[in-house]
Amino acid sequence: MRFEVITIFPEVFSGWLSKGILAKAIKKGLFEVRVHNLRDFTLDKHHQVDDRPFGGGEGMVLKPEPIFRAVEAVRCSEKAEIVLLTPQGEKFDWKIAEEFSQCPQIILICGRYEGVDERVSEYLATREMSIGDFVLTGGELAAMVIIDAVSRLIPGVIGKEEAVKKESFFQHYFDYPQYTRPRTFKGYPVPDVLLSGNHAKIEKWRRKKALEKTWQKRPELIKAKVLSPEEKQLLDEIIKERKEK
Ligand code: SAM
Repeated sequence: MRFEVITIFPEVFSGWLSKGILAKAIKKGLFEVRVHNLRDFTLDKHHQVDDRPFGGGEGMVLKPEPIFRAVEAVRCSEKAEIVLLTPQGEKFDWKIAEEFSQCPQIILICGRYEGVDERVSEYLATREMSIGDFVLTGGELAAMVIIDAVSRLIPGVIGKEEAVKKESFFQHYFDYPQYTRPRTFKGYPVPDVLLSGNHAKIEKWRRKKALEKTWQKRPELIKAKVLSPEEKQLLDEIIKERKEK
């Protein structure tokens, strides 16, 4: 799996990619991230990537030619996704992250200024992706978010695959609550069950807490899921306990 990032600020990726789990996975060859300077795909001597908008208006717009040229140069798979990062795109979520993790090549086009010439969205991009209903100054942070969320689903990137399966969203609900030392902090204790050493009890408690947290914070995730008999029973218990409180 390979990510290609097209940006006018390639240097912002180097620190981020040199640390932590992703850096280790890249070293092991589990996936690749290639960052391309959009200016390298210009043909004029000033390496101009932007220009004023037709029809007038504020700011500058990224020109289409260097972006088309960059994508044509880096694309190496028919199945590549060409992703334009834009606040107007589909909202990126865990389902899209899973879908992207099966893709051989993802090309991420980072906009800047007032955005990108519309012909990139009309004739080049296969997807338009937003990371939320807000406007960033550039697509670089959005590209990092997508690379991070997708790459950790690639087998081997997170040490134990089981760990990924237990994370928030994987089974339509959130991760269970986690605690570490000290056992009591400012008088707030860790739940007794976690100190009991009884693994069956701990597992059941975690399944119940994961369900409870999701039910409280995002009930629509639970409503969208077909619950197993055990989950139904746990949910009944949770609802009953909450009524009794
Ligand atoms: N004028 C554009 C608009 O209102 O839709 C916003 C341009 S924004 C200042 C510059 C660039 O940041 C965009 O081209 C896009 O690449 C990136 N960007 C901003 N917000 C984003 C978001 N929520 N998700 C993904 N990319 C975003």
